[in-house]
Amino acid sequence: MTIKLACRDYGYDCEFAVVGDVGSVVAQFGKHTEEEHGIEYTKEVLMQFILRKSNRI
Ligand SMILES: [Zn+2]
Repeated sequence: MTIKLACRDYGYDCEFAVVGDVGSVVAQFGKHTEEEHGIEYTKEVLMQFILRKSNRI
């Protein structure tokens, strides 16, 4: 399953987006938000983002 998370979708004024399998997207998006925005999302929270997003499609 290929998914995408984009900062813009979560209220950040930021062009960052990551596409890939769930594991790598969670890892990369979590690293980015921690390093660039100072917010550390847990894996569980990121999984909720992904699940909510896929429900919308
Ligand atoms: Zn960002």
